Amino acid sequence: MTDVAEADTEGRSVLAASGEVRVRVPAKVNLHLGVGPLRPDGYHALTTVYHAISLFDDLVATRADRLSLSITGEGAGELPTDENNLVVRAVHALARHTCREPNVALRLTKQIPVAGGLAGGSADAAAALVACDALWGTGLSRVELAKIAAEIGSDVPFLVLGGTALGTGRGEMVSPVLAPGTWHWVVAVASVGLSTPEVYAELDRLRAAGRAAGVGESPPEQLLAALRQHDPQVLAAALTNDLQPAAISLRPGLRRTLRAGMDEGALGGFVSGSGPSCVFLARDADHAAKLAARLAGRGVCRAVRTAHGPVPGARVVA
Ligand code: ATP
Repeated sequence: MTDVAEADTEGRSVLAASGEVRVRVPAKVNLHLGVGPLRPDGYHALTTVYHAISLFDDLVATRADRLSLSITGEGAGELPTDENNLVVRAVHALARHTCREPNVALRLTKQIPVAGGLAGGSADAAAALVACDALWGTGLSRVELAKIAAEIGSDVPFLVLGGTALGTGRGEMVSPVLAPGTWHWVVAVASVGLSTPEVYAELDRLRAAGRAAGVGESPPEQLLAALRQHDPQVLAAALTNDLQPAAISLRPGLRRTLRAGMDEGALGGFVSGSGPSCVFLARDADHAAKLAARLAGRGVCRAVRTAHGPVPGARVVA
């Protein structure tokens, strides 16, 4: 586990005085993703259970007289460093809310695959909010940060919170759920990402043609009960993703990845969010390591990672 320092008010002022703040933020998977109808505002109504896993991006914020962002790691070459980056949007949103200039130098190191259905961009936005909050000493509460986070993207409030949480609305309304213990996962990372809007559009198309249904907005009772019970077999049977048929329709090869994971002994497997990352549930850490090694040998994805969850959301690290 990472050495995590609580970002309390006292800690913030000490860190701000040093002129540098380092924030670590996790990826998320959706253990339950029920997609309801398209709302008049263009978003789908969601009922989801978010779960933060130990795949991390790191963001270092330093005092500066202008805003700058540099990126290394996963997808660095393909990501914008201007207003199109969610990090930059988050900095502007926080500066606007706290009536200050958006001046900060940011160095982002990515391990979370880009466009992988793991909410890496949203995670980075959450990290930027927490980092600038600490650097500037704004003193905002987590609830206030979560409100600003919701303006940036539906997944951003969860990535400020972390852990395991129920998401409603368009996913931006989050509340923690009781989920004792640790779960062990294997993540199969694809070579090419999938566009989230395209996956939702594909689901609408499949539903209009009567070729996909799903659980919609019904409450995720079975999943929540499985989490409380902490039995991996029970959890495996409760994993649900309404977007999975749409992701598979756009990327039929995902079927092969899911099948390979199950053949190699996963308890359950699913497409993460809008995909194309596939996530497999293991019995324990040892099982996850063995499953990952076997899956890597199958040649059905670009990379295989092990991870555990739940982990905290964006946090200042010592
Ligand atoms: P979603 O949260 O929609 O499920 P995802 O996990 O599939 O997204 P992300 O890695 O968040 O995918 O990236 C989605 C898009 O957001 C990318 O195509 C990228 O151009 C844009 N983006 C903006 N800022 C970032 C960032 N800091 N990291 C990754 N992607 C970013």
